[in-house]
Amino acid sequence: MIVRLKDSARDTEIEAVLSRIGDPRRVVLPFGRFIIGMGRQDPGGAEVQHMPGVESVVAEMNGPVLAARDANRRGTVVPLGRTLVGGKDLAVIAGPCSVEDKHQLMTAARFVAAYGATALRGGAYKPRTSPYAFQGLRLGGLAILDEVKRATGLPVVTEAMEPEDVDLMRDTVDCIQVGARSMQNFPLLRAVGRAGKPVLLKRGPASSLSELMLAAEYVLVEGNSQVILCERGIRTFETATRNTLDLNAVPVLKSKTHLPVIVDPSHGTGRRDAVIPMARAAVAAGADGIIVEVHPDPDRALSDGDQSLTLDQFRQLMEETRLVAEAVGRRLSTPGAVYSSCAQRPAARTALGWGTT
Ligand code: PEP
Ligand code: MN
Repeated sequence: MIVRLKDSARDTEIEAVLSRIGDPRRVVLPFGRFIIGMGRQDPGGAEVQHMPGVESVVAEMNGPVLAARDANRRGTVVPLGRTLVGGKDLAVIAGPCSVEDKHQLMTAARFVAAYGATALRGGAYKPRTSPYAFQGLRLGGLAILDEVKRATGLPVVTEAMEPEDVDLMRDTVDCIQVGARSMQNFPLLRAVGRAGKPVLLKRGPASSLSELMLAAEYVLVEGNSQVILCERGIRTFETATRNTLDLNAVPVLKSKTHLPVIVDPSHGTGRRDAVIPMARAAVAAGADGIIVEVHPDPDRALSDGDQSLTLDQFRQLMEETRLVAEAVGRRLSTPGAVYSSCAQRPAARTALGWGTT
């Protein structure tokens, strides 16, 4: 059972409710205070509904409750750098699949920053299908992310694969990615929940939308509602693309949950030539942002080169997607917007060809 407390609930009232619930857990989120019965039975369950201080009770817990739309009708916005993901402004998280070296990441970051990216992506810990494939620079990758973040001012999104990785990310990382293959790594979900930072939760390639929302519920139950859901393509019979990007997920998730939803057209297609059209489609479908792979030299990338955009293609993506954003009442930040803050960012000016004076 999940009990939602009234804003006015007093300590004595809360104590009384706690005593009626089996294995109670208190969860405080920006949109409400809850007491959750984690046990199998609630000794005084039936009467709780009428106790003072109780706003409402959900007895059936077969689906998500804290992540469900009803828990926060106003919608959740997740701060990531200067963007509130889930608001009018669209998040554009761009950068290479993996952090390979400082030059590679710095080049990509300066360019995407100059053209309006709102956050930098880059994996230091890489989940790879083959154990012989490049596994990421690990701690060395985090150090490079830290350096590039300081140079460009871009907030950093990177993947944690194990709960232990989460602690290492405390100082550098602004948003922790839980990758598609880890969507049901429950100890990891609890760890990112406890970290209290924004989480980018990617849909598993064979997971339903309700399983994705229940994975998010694991994070919320730890007291962290800063979860961004990500559609990144699912496995189907189609082999022409790496995955099938399920854009149905966008309106369906938006109706079922209050959490922001973004789309990854890079992993969703696996083909560089399909990324820009599907980024446009994602924004048209109502996504709160996109995450795309961009590499200064994609043909030499150590991972996911086939689906990584060149720098020029990223510029094209921004130009074309901006038009779609405007058509659906959303906003994509412009190179001009970055220009105003370029005084502190000579690198961005250089990338735009504006010189350094
Ligand atoms: C990635 O973002 O590089 C990645 C591995 O994504 P996914 O977990 O969606 O496959
Ligand atoms: Mn990748």
